[in-house]
Amino acid sequence: MVFTHDVEIALQAAAFLANTLLDDDELNTVASLGEYFKEFEYTGTHRRTREELDMVRALRQEIHDLLLAPRDKAAGMVNKMLARNSALPQLVRHDRLDWHLHAIQDTQPLACRVAVETAMAMVDVIRADEHSRISLCEDEGCKRIVIDLSRNRSKIYCSTTCGNRAAAAAYRARQAENPTK
Ligand SMILES: [Zn+2]
Ligand SMILES: [Zn+2]
Repeated sequence: MVFTHDVEIALQAAAFLANTLLDDDELNTVASLGEYFKEFEYTGTHRRTREELDMVRALRQEIHDLLLAPRDKAAGMVNKMLARNSALPQLVRHDRLDWHLHAIQDTQPLACRVAVETAMAMVDVIRADEHSRISLCEDEGCKRIVIDLSRNRSKIYCSTTCGNRAAAAAYRARQAENPTK
């Protein structure tokens, strides 16, 4: 594991959110927000309202910009997000999870918790100087954010679809160069 489990999940959740700016139908209903909540192991208040959804949607651009910001700029953005939400780190243990950090009350609106959890995850990324783990998908034309949590830093595509498309394009290029094979 590169980061702790909660940090890795928060980074993946953040990338998912940012990428829905491109695939809007993945987060445009209350039900799809419910799936996001479940998939990324959120706990705490979940109102299942249009307002909650709109607040999370409104946060996406900031999260997108934070993930792709250079390290020094990201540090400033993280500080602002934490201050704006009056973040207060506390060690907690719940469900099957051992001691980990929560920096905002479970009763605060989901969008505020998403902002704080993303900021707290970026604290770890910045402190460990692991910004190279966050990049754009290598497939030309795909603008999705990739979080590489692999030991050997091998994840360069956002999905197998993009990986396969790039492999097929490389194959076609080799064929065109050398049509007798
Ligand atoms: Zn927790
Ligand atoms: Zn991609």
